[in-house]
Amino acid sequence: MNDGEFRARLRDFLTSHHPGRPPKPPEERLRWNKAWLATLFDAGFAGPSWPREFGGMELSFAHQVIYQEELARARVPGPLGTGLGIAAPTILTYGTQDQKERWLAPMLRGDTIWAQGYSEPGAGSDLPSLRTTARRDGDYYVVDGQKVWTSHGKTADHLFTLVRTGSRESRQRGITYLIIDAHAPGVEVRPLRDLTGGHLFAEVFFDDVRVPVTDRVGTENEGWKLARTSLGHERAAGAMNQAALYRRVLTDLVALARERGLLADPLVRDRLAGFEIRVRLMHYNAERVISDILAKGEPGATSSVSRLLISAFEQELHEFAVDVLGPAGLLLKPDPDAVQGGRWLQGFLRTRASTIGAGTREIQLNTVAEQVLGLPHDPAMPPR
Ligand SMILES: Cc1cc2nc3c(=O)[nH]c(=O)nc-3n(C[C@H](O)[C@H](O)[C@H](O)COP(=O)(O)OP(=O)(O)OC[C@H]3O[C@@H](n4cnc5c(N)ncnc54)[C@H](O)[C@@H]3O)c2cc1C
Repeated sequence: MNDGEFRARLRDFLTSHHPGRPPKPPEERLRWNKAWLATLFDAGFAGPSWPREFGGMELSFAHQVIYQEELARARVPGPLGTGLGIAAPTILTYGTQDQKERWLAPMLRGDTIWAQGYSEPGAGSDLPSLRTTARRDGDYYVVDGQKVWTSHGKTADHLFTLVRTGSRESRQRGITYLIIDAHAPGVEVRPLRDLTGGHLFAEVFFDDVRVPVTDRVGTENEGWKLARTSLGHERAAGAMNQAALYRRVLTDLVALARERGLLADPLVRDRLAGFEIRVRLMHYNAERVISDILAKGEPGATSSVSRLLISAFEQELHEFAVDVLGPAGLLLKPDPDAVQGGRWLQGFLRTRASTIGAGTREIQLNTVAEQVLGLPHDPAMPPR
């Protein structure tokens, strides 16, 4: 199928099956989102880069780009949890056939939601200092400890975690990649309230949680290698999807500025032109990330460049929007004077975290310095 035919077929499907506006109550909204993911999967329109064997589309580079553009254009709900972009590529690379068969299709169809349990109260940028332990007991591991900032922890069915199986001093040499059933006895999820008033994050506590050895991905004590794959994909995940999304968001912002008579101001036009240039750069960089993954199987350090570009862009775009909207831009729903339901202020609050999640801005800058520019390695971080 050529590019034009593929785009037309997908656009047609998205128009005829569009799920409409999301319901407000969180539980109904979750069901609505899951139903949409199932519709996409059942029609063969899920997992643009995934192998067909596990329900994906195995698309060419050009079709993956079109796929993300059309989904952003149609304003349909995205995936749930963080499994698709982060855990799935790791399982595809290091998982056994049995694990792939058990986990991948239900994840893609939205039947199961996955969340990432890496960070701990004392281990964020310096992940090798993590202290959650997994002790071997026959065919099980017994897990004890705590994770924090677990996005989608409240709704998760599976947690893809890093746990310590070696001594504390072993650092990155004693870490194992374990998939933990979020509903297992001994798992306690406590939602955390964030700046927007939502509960995206959770703390997760493990108290003698029994995890079958068959749910370990890769070899015991060699999870660091998997974590590095995961982290690269986390930074790459959604690079194209976000470039397409911000194309649309910027178009909305220009329309809003026009509607409010702001385009007569040359300073406003200058800032919008700057955003336009950056949104195009994000698109080209996302193309580089996808072509790296297709060529080498790994996103490499370009994923950090991409992450840096996107996180700075989304923060500055929302800061600008709130600035130009004046006092009305500071109102949120249900205030009747809130501009577009407070969308721009919500975005401003939400994107404060963009330069922390998936590795802080400083850590991304270090990666670019070392792996792209060839500068000396940060002595505070584990050797590569
Ligand atoms: C929106 C969001 C979603 C997240 N989702 C998840 C999730 O789903 N699962 C999960 O496991 N975690 C998640 N996190 C946690 C995130 O990965 C950590 O917050 C992040 O890695 C930083 O760790 P920290 O908070 O412990 O800060 P620290 O590592 O303590 O860093 C504190 C400050 O020191 C700086 N710093 C640290 N080390 C260095 C260094 N070597 N060089 C220069 N500066 C340095 C940092 O840049 C930062 O400014 C999420 C965080 C956010 C904000």
